[in-house]
Amino acid sequence: MGAQINLKFDFKDSNVVVTGGARGIGLQITRLFLEAGAKVAVWEYSPESIEVARLELASFGERVYFQQVDVSTWSSVEAAAQSLPFAVEILVNNAGITRDKSFGKMSVEDFQAVIDTNLNGVFYCTKALLPKFADTQFKRIISIASVVALYGNFGQTNYVASKAGVIGMTKTWARELARKGFTANAVAPGFIMTPMVEAMPLEARNSVSDKVPAGRFGTPSEIANACLFLASREASYINGAVISVDGGLVV
Ligand code: NDP
Repeated sequence: MGAQINLKFDFKDSNVVVTGGARGIGLQITRLFLEAGAKVAVWEYSPESIEVARLELASFGERVYFQQVDVSTWSSVEAAAQSLPFAVEILVNNAGITRDKSFGKMSVEDFQAVIDTNLNGVFYCTKALLPKFADTQFKRIISIASVVALYGNFGQTNYVASKAGVIGMTKTWARELARKGFTANAVAPGFIMTPMVEAMPLEARNSVSDKVPAGRFGTPSEIANACLFLASREASYINGAVISVDGGLVV
């Protein structure tokens, strides 16, 4: 399922922060950066997810560093940034949640919770880490948005608002920070094969994948590969872009 593209990027001297980097797509982003030689700080909320990932990534030794962080809370993010023991070159804002309901049924709490994590969280993490970026002309901010931010989606007023906001912040940072050596870009995944999708009945899965020109779901690796490319020196002139990784869903 899903072509595995073997990109050979070298991140040997790079320090990376991946939010929500212990589970799902974020775990794969963490793993590929580690395989490419980087040192990765994983900012993760639940201690259980941290423990599972710690075992899974044990072979990378001290190059993987876990911090328990709630990205939706400024004080938690600020404390994590202050205690980070190294300067960073690459930040991947990946942590995200959904609380889907039709607009009529969506409560203010449903809206607020998703905005707090997906939008405020990206602002908090980027803001708190800005002074922790290395003094170099190679700096990267990559944020995981979603294709639904580009076309809206039933039952996702809160999620679409948060991801559209992430795209807006990305374009603004692309303008404000480029002269300081940053690029800021967003990745917009389509339907990605995660444990939640794997658990769907085959018929329901097929009806979703039929809508994708590629005829299948994407893999976490395909999102991670896009992140590594945007983080690489080879992508130095890509700034303010939203890269759809969706099998052609949005064309
Ligand atoms: P998962 O639910 O599998 O993983 C989400 C990650 O975010 C978890 O590691 C979770 O940590 C972390 N997280 C959630 N809330 C917080 C918080 N307050 N503080 C710190 N970490 C937090 O989701 P996916 O891997 O599927 O999604 C990853 C990103 O990709 C998200 O931004 C999502 O919106 C986006 N995306 C996913 C798509 C898909 O089809 N899967 C499609 C389009 C976009 P914990 O384990 O502690 O809960």
